[in-house]
Amino acid sequence: MAIELPEQIRIDYLSDEELTAAGVRLGMLRLDTIHPLVSGNKWFKLKKNIQAAQAAHAEALLTFGGAYSNHLLATAAAAQAAGMASIGIVRGQPGPGTWSDTLKDCHSLGMDLVFASREIYSRKYDDTYLAQLKEQYPRAWIIPEGGNNEAGRAGAAAITTYLPEDSTHVAVAIGTGTTFSGIRETLDPRIALLGFPAMKGGAYLEPELKQCLSGTRDNWQLCTDYHFGGFARHTETLITFMNMFYDRYQVPLDFVYTAKMMYGITEMIRNGIFPPGSHIIGIHTGGLQGNRSLGHLLHSAATGDD
Ligand SMILES: *Cc1c(COP(=O)(O)O)cnc(C)c1O
Repeated sequence: MAIELPEQIRIDYLSDEELTAAGVRLGMLRLDTIHPLVSGNKWFKLKKNIQAAQAAHAEALLTFGGAYSNHLLATAAAAQAAGMASIGIVRGQPGPGTWSDTLKDCHSLGMDLVFASREIYSRKYDDTYLAQLKEQYPRAWIIPEGGNNEAGRAGAAAITTYLPEDSTHVAVAIGTGTTFSGIRETLDPRIALLGFPAMKGGAYLEPELKQCLSGTRDNWQLCTDYHFGGFARHTETLITFMNMFYDRYQVPLDFVYTAKMMYGITEMIRNGIFPPGSHIIGIHTGGLQGNRSLGHLLHSAATGDD
C-alpha cells in the first residue's frame, strides 16, 4: 500500500510519583502516530490484506463496520492510497443517527457506503451472504469486520518488532482479537501479553482466542473488568480519566479501546499486580477519530486533534 510506515515508532514513557513508587516503567507504543486515518493497528491488519487483494487482481476492498468504525475509515483511506475502490457495508439504516463524521469521511475518500439492516449485517460471516456479495461485487476483495482474517493476524504480528526486548508485559485492547492473536504469535514467550476486551463479558473470547493459536503458548491472559458498561459505552469516570491522563502525560486516548486499557493498567499497578522492575508497554492502537462522537466532553487537546 502506498502509505508507508515511519522508520521509528516512538514509545512515550509515562512518568509520575505513583509509577516511581510502584517501581515499574510504563510506556506506550504510539501506533496512533502512523497515519491520521489508517491509524494504529489498522495499518498492520490492512497491509497484508491489500497485498493479497492486489495479488488476486482485485480492484476494490469490501468490508464491514458500524457508523463510527475505525476499521471502515482506515479501509477507505488505505484503499484510496493504494489506488483501489472501496465498499463499506454499514450496520444500520441511513439517518441522522448513522450519518456520522466517520461515514462522511469514508464517503469523501470515495467509499461506496451500503447500509444493511441489523438482521442482514449479522450475517457478515455467513457463507451464503458472502457468496451473494461476491456475485454483486465480483472485483472486490472481501475483508471481514475488523480485518479479522489470516492476513490481518499476520500483519498484526509485525507489531512485535517495535517492542523493546526487555519489556516484561505488553498490553493491547481487544475488539475482534485479531491484533491480540497476531502479536501473540510472534511475541517473545518470556513476555506476558495482556488483552483488554472493550466489550462486556469479554471472557467469551477466551476459547475463540485459544482456537486461533498455532502453537502452545500460554504467556497470555485477558483482563475483562475494564469494559465500562460495554462496547463503545462510556462513563463519567472514564472521561475524567481520559482528561486526567492527557493533562498528566500528554497522550490522547480513544474512549472505545485505549482509555479502558490504560485505566485497567494503572489500576492494576496501583493494586500491586505488577512486580517492581516490570517494564510494561501499552500499545496505542489509535482510534482517536472516534472521539469526535463525544462532542465537548474532552478537553480540546485530549481529542488528539492537535
Ligand atoms: C480496531 C481497534 C482495536 C481492536 O482491534 P482488534 O484487532 O479488532 O482486536 C483496538 N484499538 C483501537 C483503537 C482500534 O481502533
